[in-house]
Amino acid sequence: MPELPEVETVANGVNARVRGERVVAAWFSDKREPMKTEPARMERVLTGAVIRRVHRVGKTVVMDLARADGDQQMLIHLGMTGRLLVNEAEAPRVKHTHAVLSLESGREVRFVDPRRFGRLSIFGMEGPDWGRGGKREAALKIAKKSVKEKARSADKLRAKDTAAQVPKLRAGLADSAAGMAGKLAKKAAASGKGAAGKKSGKSTAAGKSTAAGKSTAAGKSTAAGKPTAAGKPTAAGKPTAAGKLAAAGKLAGAGQSAGTRKLGEARKSSETRETGPGTAGPVKFAEFAGSGAEPLTIGMEEFQALFRGRKTPIKSALLNQKLLHGVGNIYADEALFRAGVRPGRQTARVTRVELERLRVGLVEVLRQAIALGGSSVSDYVDAEGSRGFFQMEHRVYQRTGEPCRVCGRPIRKIVIGGRSSHFCPHCQR
Ligand SMILES: [Zn+2]
Repeated sequence: MPELPEVETVANGVNARVRGERVVAAWFSDKREPMKTEPARMERVLTGAVIRRVHRVGKTVVMDLARADGDQQMLIHLGMTGRLLVNEAEAPRVKHTHAVLSLESGREVRFVDPRRFGRLSIFGMEGPDWGRGGKREAALKIAKKSVKEKARSADKLRAKDTAAQVPKLRAGLADSAAGMAGKLAKKAAASGKGAAGKKSGKSTAAGKSTAAGKSTAAGKSTAAGKPTAAGKPTAAGKPTAAGKLAAAGKLAGAGQSAGTRKLGEARKSSETRETGPGTAGPVKFAEFAGSGAEPLTIGMEEFQALFRGRKTPIKSALLNQKLLHGVGNIYADEALFRAGVRPGRQTARVTRVELERLRVGLVEVLRQAIALGGSSVSDYVDAEGSRGFFQMEHRVYQRTGEPCRVCGRPIRKIVIGGRSSHFCPHCQR
């Protein structure tokens, strides 16, 4: 099963080969399992799209697609046996090929998966058929509700306005609040009916729905952040100019504080800020971010907070994709060895110092594996399987009974949460 480094290597390899290319046709097999999005829709979205970039989010390969009618992303989960190949069109298609993207250059991106645990889908908010089947309506409802709630709390705040609170509220607006009042009223009237209003409404809903589907933390950030920019004219389109002004001030504030409120939101908050109040530019594209934090870039404090007070064994916490995404069995065992922490230790009992060693150890093993994978990327992407990856020098993983590379005592294996876990009873406490 490919883990984070393998997926990163695949994504980087494909990116190097197809970045900037236009998809001229897309074909899908008649096997249903890999198609999380209806094949006809994937075909429509892919055809004519330019591949801006291929990258990794968690254990998902993400293909950013630029389209005239709104950017989208194709998500590829490799599952157990899925592979992404870049071939010349003439090269014979191997058995179990489930998707082929034909590129302008004459090459093809192929998804091959004998066991069909891999998944293909489209993630994006705009495009010709976004939100068919009531999804958009449901998302809109949620978005409207949350904006209403904000407006309500703004009203409450206004009710007990003190002299000190008024300037504070107004400071939330990018421009002078007084000067904006008239403009806002006009804009609201115009965008309530016009195309701009429609568009921003759509994107608000999408941002909300995509985030809400995955995790509530992300959902909150999007809901709080987006309405300040795009959602305001739609959702707050009806209230009086005075009420609106107060709501806008409050919302602008909410958008900013939301960015720092929860873990894993940092990557979204920067986008949120770009589209502050008064920005009239195109609505930003909600990027697929997956659930959980990114293990390669997570900071020390964030990492500590993820694990604080948890009763499960530390090994299980490391594998919990809602906390960190993309960490699998091999790298969890290897990181725990580097940190000197036994896999069965209760998470809450792992000290701050040990947790920091664990974070550093995890980054180290993942980077090392990516580096090794990177050097054999052509084998992985173009030919057979994962040659090169498992040459990594494991210190404990699947070395049961072999001498520890540090102290020479035999490595032990235990089962934690159904997963085999390897450790040195002497070096790990
Ligand atoms: Zn040892």
